[in-house]
Amino acid sequence: MSNIENNLASVRQKIIDQCLASGRQPEKVTLLAVSKTKPISDIELAYQAGQRDFGENYLQEAEKKINGISHKDIIWHYIGPIQSNKSHKISELFDWVHSVERLKVAKHLDKFRPPHKPPLNILLQVNIDQEPSKSGIDVQDILPLADEIACLPQLKLRGLMAIPAIRKDFEAQREPFKKMQQAFQTLQQQHPQCDTLSMGMSADMQAAIAEGSTLVRIGTAIFGARD
Ligand SMILES: *Cc1c(COP(=O)(O)O)cnc(C)c1O
Repeated sequence: MSNIENNLASVRQKIIDQCLASGRQPEKVTLLAVSKTKPISDIELAYQAGQRDFGENYLQEAEKKINGISHKDIIWHYIGPIQSNKSHKISELFDWVHSVERLKVAKHLDKFRPPHKPPLNILLQVNIDQEPSKSGIDVQDILPLADEIACLPQLKLRGLMAIPAIRKDFEAQREPFKKMQQAFQTLQQQHPQCDTLSMGMSADMQAAIAEGSTLVRIGTAIFGARD
């Protein structure tokens, strides 16, 4: 087995173990492999090991990979910051965007979504720890933005994404994820089609699953450290 195949098996097992510990069904948690900075050959190894959802942060890099890989059943997720002049390309290339935080960008994504493709799946990024250095909206701004985005025909609002501040221990890690889960439930009351809560990375995946994450974004634990 390649390292990547081994790592994937180990991450999948950790997801299953945490789901069982939390009384959740493992198939309700999607594993997104974050392949930023890694070569196409790594994506290919993960694909051969059964992985289908891949996440990228940088448009130029992602464009080369998406166009360079022939598998048509890969689901591509854009998880990086969005400059509005890049939203055109993002909307053409990707199936999901996790990092929407402005209506202007959402309108661009809607306008440039190719009509022959299904609507682009959208998550709103929430700055759950209100860190000045981080992207994302405040919790109280979720519903107003969600209401506007729900009216854009080429977008499909699916839920929320967050990147909390780094915390070391499990119980501390759960706090921001719990707040996200509450915000997600409030959103679902107004927008019942929302089914995706994107939270948890290599270092805090288990705490995120314990608080209801439906999609974990894992880079390092699958592909190794980035340069
Ligand atoms: C890089 C990145 C990840 C993956 O982080 P790891 O710690 O390597 O698992 C997840 N989400 C986002 C938004 C990222 O930029």
